[in-house]
Amino acid sequence: MQTNLLILGGTTEATALARAVAEAGLAGTVSFAGRVERPVRQPLPQRVGGFGGTDGLATYLRDHKITHLVDATHPFAAQMSFNAVAAATAAQVPLVALTRPPWRAQAGDDWTHVPDIGAAVAALDRAPCNVMLAVGRMHLADFAPNPQHRYLLRLVDPPKTALPLPLTETVVDRGPFSEAADTALMQAHNIDLIVSKNSGGTGAYAKLAAARSLRLPVLMIDRPAQPERSELATPADILNWVHHSTDLGV
Ligand code: NAP
Repeated sequence: MQTNLLILGGTTEATALARAVAEAGLAGTVSFAGRVERPVRQPLPQRVGGFGGTDGLATYLRDHKITHLVDATHPFAAQMSFNAVAAATAAQVPLVALTRPPWRAQAGDDWTHVPDIGAAVAALDRAPCNVMLAVGRMHLADFAPNPQHRYLLRLVDPPKTALPLPLTETVVDRGPFSEAADTALMQAHNIDLIVSKNSGGTGAYAKLAAARSLRLPVLMIDRPAQPERSELATPADILNWVHHSTDLGV
């Protein structure tokens, strides 16, 4: 059977993998959830939208004769990752995840770890301050119980509906970001505190380097649990796995 990858994307790493797959002359498709209006253009065909749960993904794998499934989603996209493992098992398609290690605090960092979004919201039950809320559009409503803060938001698309927080300033931009620009942004908005997901990777790290240089505290939201699966770190590792995948798999 001809190799035909499905890459679950939405990350810088997925785009890098798609480039490597295209350059290697392999067939594949990149899948997006459809959360952003203009997904980064891929060097492979792309599809957009949910599959309809585990069963829908298993059906897609069979119908499109997918030979390898690569979960290159964001570490906080845990639902998709659990669905991917279940669907790959059902459709008997080998699966691997392309993952990036979590960020770790280093000398000069002032991080407080919280286990999830709910704990971050609880930690913001305090006197008003200026918060850079770097959690993505989907989770803004979770922070509604703390309307006293002035929130600096950085969103990929301009908001189309009223934001669920009363005091916000919005910057529309997409990474990768630089430490110098993020330092200037934090200074311009008198930021007192940064709320960040522990996404890992390079594209969104700048805010943490900027926080260190400005000696600002960071509320770091730890990653959700992920399913048991094989994990690899680079596109080259994935290509190698594709070539030797009969020994690996789900
Ligand atoms: P999620 O909660 O794990 O997934 C919810 C549902 O969205 C899934 O069950 C699936 O719908 C659909 N979905 C998710 N990723 C998909 C993909 N790559 N292709 C097709 N359908 C997908 O995911 P999320 O946290 O909302 O993230 C959505 C997407 O944004 C992911 O692809 C992720 O890589 C990207 N992203 C997420 C974050 C983050 O912080 N969560 C940050 C940057 C990028 P069905 O059940 O209908 O198949």
